[in-house]
Amino acid sequence: MSSDIILQAEKLSIQFKGFWAVKDVDLNIRRGTIHALIGPNGAGKTTCFNLLTKFLIPTSGKIHFDGQDITRKGPAEIAQLGMVRSFQISAVFPSLSVLENVTIALQRNRGNSFDFWKRDTSLRALNPRAEELLEEVGLTSYRNHLANELSYGRKRALEIATTLALEPKMMLLDEPMAGMAVEDIDRITELIRRVSKGRTILMVEHNLSVVATLSDQITVLARGQVLAEGDYATVSANPQVLEAYMGT
Ligand code: ADP
Repeated sequence: MSSDIILQAEKLSIQFKGFWAVKDVDLNIRRGTIHALIGPNGAGKTTCFNLLTKFLIPTSGKIHFDGQDITRKGPAEIAQLGMVRSFQISAVFPSLSVLENVTIALQRNRGNSFDFWKRDTSLRALNPRAEELLEEVGLTSYRNHLANELSYGRKRALEIATTLALEPKMMLLDEPMAGMAVEDIDRITELIRRVSKGRTILMVEHNLSVVATLSDQITVLARGQVLAEGDYATVSANPQVLEAYMGT
């Protein structure tokens, strides 16, 4: 595996009761790029994403991350290696402030225990980094708001900040624009572009104009297999891709 490739899947496959939801999928995600996984409904995107993030165990195939075989590792272990899955709303504590949410994510990353007598001091020590992260995602002026007071788009920005607190080498985003208002889509697109600097991003996304704007590389899945690969201009001009989308 070339060191240029941070995440590699080889012949990744999973069978559900005799049905191959993902079959012999090869993926090579280059370091420092934004890579999108797209395809019509039922193509196997979510299943593939869950295989890569270790929420599902493959029937066959191998996955390597950053030079290590992670085929048999679990989600917590791969997070330790720097591969972090985002957009799990539950990762945000709704009744804590924005700043507290980021500080707690930082504290978790440093492996600190939640010893009550130490907690205040260690949280305060993490404040400068928390403020940096809030600045990076544009939430500085919301630092004292409760997370559940934020708009949907700003909640996503907070989730990105809590993910960045884990210092990921690679972020995996599951439909970052799902349920988002139009004005928030532009803001989160810009934010993803900003936080991608020096990191690798793999996202499953339905909004093709977002995919066109952000992606360096795209893998198109259809019926559990790779149908096409390349930049947006290449895959969107592919007659088989057009046919797969029209057929749904
Ligand atoms: P996409 O995300 O591209 O819409 P999915 O990965 O959700 O596609 O699903 C791919 C196919 O696998 C679909 O036909 C779906 O019905 C099937 N599938 C997904 N998960 C399961 C499961 N747990 N059991 C049986 N079939 C499943």
